[in-house]
Amino acid sequence: MAIQSFNPPQRTLMGPGPSDVSQRVLAALARPTIGHLDPAFIGMMDEVKQLLQYAFQTSNSNTMAISAPGSAGMEACFVNLITPEDTVVVCRNGVFGARMIENVNRIGAKLVIVDSPWGRAVDPQLLEDALHKNPQANFVAFVHAETSTGARSDAKTLCEIAKRHQCLTIVDAVTSLGGNELRVDDWGIDAVYSGSQKCLSCVPGISPVSFSEQASEVISNRTLPVQSWFLDQSLVMGYWSGTGKRAYHHTAPVNSLYALHESLLMLQQEGLENSWARHQKQHDALANGLTKLGLEFIVPESERLPQLNSVYIPKGIDDAKVRQFLLQEYNLEIGAGLGQFAGQAWRIGLMGFTARSENVALCLAALESAFTKFK
Ligand SMILES: *Cc1c(COP(=O)(O)O)cnc(C)c1O
Repeated sequence: MAIQSFNPPQRTLMGPGPSDVSQRVLAALARPTIGHLDPAFIGMMDEVKQLLQYAFQTSNSNTMAISAPGSAGMEACFVNLITPEDTVVVCRNGVFGARMIENVNRIGAKLVIVDSPWGRAVDPQLLEDALHKNPQANFVAFVHAETSTGARSDAKTLCEIAKRHQCLTIVDAVTSLGGNELRVDDWGIDAVYSGSQKCLSCVPGISPVSFSEQASEVISNRTLPVQSWFLDQSLVMGYWSGTGKRAYHHTAPVNSLYALHESLLMLQQEGLENSWARHQKQHDALANGLTKLGLEFIVPESERLPQLNSVYIPKGIDDAKVRQFLLQEYNLEIGAGLGQFAGQAWRIGLMGFTARSENVALCLAALESAFTKFK
């Protein structure tokens, strides 16, 4: 049979990302492609940068969108800042902290791991203790919003501790940006990365990043070249900044950046605090309904992410069957458990455009009918 055009089914995306993309963002994506060095495009890139500075709450001039997914943003932060001479403390409380460790190991830097239980925030006291024991440490890295478990760590306190020990901070804000409070400058975050497809509700494949002045200095003072040519910030910045002519580095994903521009504009128009409050409000409604259905949250209430709700799968309920039923009968995607929670938990996302009352109602109704069917 001849291959036909691909028309995806209409889903409601309540997993760990991608989240639902609004018609407004999809319409931006479909606008005519122009040259990536066209002055009109460069003007738009400058606006993306401004909008990102707002979303991150930073005045860092070294703020941009990397042309690759969140994992590339993570890698960019690590390979640009860290050399084999450095000692990096990585706080691990889920899958993404473990990936930070992988990055440090591949660079060949000295590594100190601070483990907190999965499903809990990073314990600040454990970081404090590790920094006392390892006075040579010069970087601290942690995940603000651990999407594998739904735990929110206290980024402000962790950064304060790191700063008291003269460490630069690297923070994963892939799931937190736009969904819960994040203040890059006020909290002393030196390098931060995010993703387009979580609470920004843009198409996947772009990673916003921002580097403080101190972090930018570390990068420009490097003598050892960054091992990745593509992610080398000293080269990428020539493409993303400066007045006048931009140097060609790679071809930006032109239309995806239109989409990012639109989704960031929507965030600015809504207001960052309002967006955080909307996520919290929808989370409260969902949590209330899930509890009524007899589901138990993994994360204690004070450490929960509003945008990622992880609950234990009830005893006697078949994980795969339920998720397949939701997809087939309700066009609803929820997330499976990851890592230590594989097969034991569901991860229900309320990210960005997905965080609306109608989706909360849909999800609760769909789960209730699944439980009736598969009991
Ligand atoms: C999704 C996610 C990533 C990876 O982003 P990709 O776009 O899938 O590469 C990294 N960290 C966290 C916390 C995430 O949720």
